[in-house]
Amino acid sequence: MASIFTKIIRGEIPSYKIAEDENYYAFLDINPLAKGHTLIVPKKETDYLFDLDDDLLAGMSVFSKKVAWAIENVIQCARIGVAVLGLEVPHAHIHLIPINSETDISFSKPKLKLSDEEFREIAEKIRMALK
Ligand code: AMP
Repeated sequence: MASIFTKIIRGEIPSYKIAEDENYYAFLDINPLAKGHTLIVPKKETDYLFDLDDDLLAGMSVFSKKVAWAIENVIQCARIGVAVLGLEVPHAHIHLIPINSETDISFSKPKLKLSDEEFREIAEKIRMALK
């Protein structure tokens, strides 16, 4: 069965899309630790990040870098923190999270509750910053 992220990539489940190319898809995390919290996913469904072949893994870093700079342009923060957990969704992904301190990237923190309008607005601004 396809993962929830594959369904998002195929457009079968909605997402607040940030960017995509032939290999990767970026969209806002629905339970964000911070405004602009983004997930980077390879289109090739693979559970574990470190099972990706070398080229796909390396390319994911380069794709993440572009998206991270766009997020940083839009969201006031000290930098973009990077995390890999994969404990919930078995489809490899990288979390990009705007942070100002170490505690901002703690996954035990309560998540933000954003409205559909807020998600749309953030996604649109990041998309614009990518252009
Ligand atoms: P983990 O697998 O532990 O890295 O966590 C999976 C992440 O995916 C969590 O931060 C979820 O909030 C996020 N997530 C799960 N389903 C969706 C969805 N439909 N849209 C956006 N983010 C999601």
